[in-house]
Amino acid sequence: MNVVKWARSKSPWIIHFNTGSCNGCDIEVVAALTPKFDLERFGVLLKGSPRHADVIVVTGPVTNQVKERLKRVYEQMPSPKFVMAIGTCACSGGVFKDCYNLCQGVDKVIPVDIYVPGCAASPEAIIDGAAKLLKKISG
Ligand code: SF4
Repeated sequence: MNVVKWARSKSPWIIHFNTGSCNGCDIEVVAALTPKFDLERFGVLLKGSPRHADVIVVTGPVTNQVKERLKRVYEQMPSPKFVMAIGTCACSGGVFKDCYNLCQGVDKVIPVDIYVPGCAASPEAIIDGAAKLLKKISG
């Protein structure tokens, strides 16, 4: 493993984007970051700007209204960049699948590296997804 990959895998900075979630998955993402589940032990840090983030964590089905914004935020991230789809809605549209105002899951708009299913996705599942992503980043 080269030193850049090693460094990146030790400090994945993330940005959180809600594309139409009911907020259930957002609360679980926040719970995963808090000291009880302590996602930060892997070096994960929540940032406010896509320009500072390596990973975009997306929750919710992608509505037509937010589709272009999601693309724009993704394009503003420096490469290499990674995408985690959190919750069944982000993975496939979930309970909102085939709704008239959706383009379904996140992978219909931007490429997804890790899918974390669940309604809502539990903090344990989110941590498991993060561990898989770190393996991919360092691989
Ligand atoms: S997967 Fe469930 S909890 Fe998460 S945004 Fe969809 S409906 Fe809400």
